Amino acid sequence: MAGIKLEVVSAERIVYSDEVDVVIAPGIDGQLGILPHHAPLMTTLTMGELRAKKANEEFSLAISGGFLEVRPDRVIVLADAAERAEEIDLARAEAAKLRAEERISHPTPNLDLARAEASLRRALTRLKVAGRRKRATQPKV
Ligand code: ATP
Repeated sequence: MAGIKLEVVSAERIVYSDEVDVVIAPGIDGQLGILPHHAPLMTTLTMGELRAKKANEEFSLAISGGFLEVRPDRVIVLADAAERAEEIDLARAEAAKLRAEERISHPTPNLDLARAEASLRRALTRLKVAGRRKRATQPKV
């Protein structure tokens, strides 16, 4: 089956660029599935997991919001930040999660709750995406 080119770009770098069979992105209004020959589209992404399938391999990226454009020959994701599962620093994500949880559960008068919640969502998404990496490397029984 002819695929579709997926390009995931952050302000810092090209995070992913390859041909895939299907993309499932965290759209602002819910999961967005894109197959080859999808109609042109521009939409906003929320913090979440972007999944894609290439041959029989499924992989996952953590996306910190951004924009997605479907063109006739490619899907372009401009992400605020994005990491492939294997790039995620688990200890850093755990620390960010604990920090955000601590701020939310012991609020100070000048707490920016929305910011703490967004930080928690980023950390939880990173942990989830990194967890897929671990499962993928476990031997099949
Ligand atoms: P932290 O509180 O740990 O800095 P953050 O959510 O504030 O996390 P971001 O502002 O979303 O971090 O990202 C800043 C940069 O750091 C981006 O390039 C992002 O890809 C990278 N990054 C953030 N957390 C991780 C992580 N756990 N593993 C790998 N890269 C990360």
